[in-house]
Amino acid sequence: MKILFLKGIKILDSRGEETLKVVMKTDRGGWSSVSLPQGKSKGKKEVISLKVNESLKRIKEIFSFLANKKISSQEQLDRLLLKLDGTENKRNLGGNTILGISLSLAKNFAQSRKQELYQYLKELINKKEKISFNLKLLFNLINGGLHSPSGPSIQEYLLLTNLDKGRGIWLASKIYHSLGKKLKAGLGDEGGFILRERDNELPLRLLKQIVKKINSSQKIRFGLDVAASNIKEKINILKLVEKYNLLYLEDPKKENNFAGFRKLREELKSQGKDTLVVGDDLTATNPQRIKRAIREKSIDGIIVKPNQIGSLTEAIEAIKIAKKNKLKVIISHRSGETCDNFIADLALASNAWGLKSGAPSRSERNSKYNRLLEILNLRNGPMV
Ligand code: PEP
Ligand code: MG
Repeated sequence: MKILFLKGIKILDSRGEETLKVVMKTDRGGWSSVSLPQGKSKGKKEVISLKVNESLKRIKEIFSFLANKKISSQEQLDRLLLKLDGTENKRNLGGNTILGISLSLAKNFAQSRKQELYQYLKELINKKEKISFNLKLLFNLINGGLHSPSGPSIQEYLLLTNLDKGRGIWLASKIYHSLGKKLKAGLGDEGGFILRERDNELPLRLLKQIVKKINSSQKIRFGLDVAASNIKEKINILKLVEKYNLLYLEDPKKENNFAGFRKLREELKSQGKDTLVVGDDLTATNPQRIKRAIREKSIDGIIVKPNQIGSLTEAIEAIKIAKKNKLKVIISHRSGETCDNFIADLALASNAWGLKSGAPSRSERNSKYNRLLEILNLRNGPMV
């Protein structure tokens, strides 16, 4: 395959900030494009994203470098770009620049093989495993922390339910609307409601009340992304786990506190809880950090955000390490998003435990949920 056209474009993200879109044409796959998300509560160990204008320049340079080169695989191009960058944190080319090219190539390869993206990605991740077409959805219904101008310091109040042939999406939508009627509140960065009260427990109380009223037979549990690196005060997490039967705790400790993660895990297990302790800022989709968390028994699962590490090959490496070590994988959006839905395909392709894409509202969040619905409904027939 040869790249015939490569260009970066400056576009708006869901917060109205500048982000990068990459457009590619190859001699085999035709046109493809990818729009990149951006984090706000970023981990210190994430790779560097360049300012969009800088990325645009780098993409021009990379295009001249790649012109007439034969690209035989995803990994070959990704490794070439990593070598060209030559740094650990991708500060020369930018994680956003490299990832934009990397994901555009993935879409292009899928097209050239007349495959859906998730089918192509599955082959990169694990040729033998069958896709289950089911996973947990983690809906962020109340936004706090850095994603809200007011309210609790905990960042995300999550409703967890199974995709279950699409039923989970409609259930979350029903709960989201009931919550909206009750709160009559504005929305935070990820489409969840914002509150005025600082009380960290109030959102869980509200969610519990609403879910009780809805009285669904489908399994519903709650979870939190504490994003503890951004919090100063002490929060009694164990009390919240006990009171609200929490299934999921993301970043309950600060991003370098591997021992603190482990201690909390041990406490939960010793109390017979099934609560999962998950690393986001802790592990930063970085294979070395994930290996350390495994060695130190810090976590039950990892968040995978491709733009934390900056190439598809490395994100897949993170997924493979996690799966091999029986860690749960949760593929995740960022707080600043676009309507690109690459991560929905990635979640199905990797048989991830879960997908986190915010509230079931606003197009940049729903594009991921809608892609799942599209795949579920069309996978036995022609995709349109
Ligand atoms: C998160 O912490 O899980 C998250 C999505 O935050 P951000 O994208 O703002 O870094
Ligand atoms: Mg997080």
